[in-house]
Amino acid sequence: MAYKRTCSQADCDNPVYARGFCRKHYNMMWRKGRVGTIYEKIEQSNMTADEIYELNSIRREIERSKQMYNNVIGLDARVKWRKKITKLEHDLKESESRIERLKQQRAEKRRQKAMKEQRETENQTETME
Ligand SMILES: [Zn+2]
Repeated sequence: MAYKRTCSQADCDNPVYARGFCRKHYNMMWRKGRVGTIYEKIEQSNMTADEIYELNSIRREIERSKQMYNNVIGLDARVKWRKKITKLEHDLKESESRIERLKQQRAEKRRQKAMKEQRETENQTETME
């Protein structure tokens, strides 16, 4: 088949080696033991592994801070954790909107890439005839 797929990682145009990734990114995911789950998340969300990690770690930190807020004793400590939660929630919103913009750019780039690959496939079919 002349159709050539490229890596699932955003902004990587290397050919697919395994599970939707190029050799480099596949090896990277494999070393982290995250090939299966990360690949599915990337496919579903149109996000990169780094972006998924970024959002997850902020969300985890918010959860931890909320637990701290509920368990600390004394007004000062509660004010401190309340401030931290507010800051983290702000960070999360910023990350989410930045990543949302990147996702839209990426979707557009993928559409163009798919069209280009489609044209190439058609050209190759023509020369074979
Ligand atoms: Zn790649």
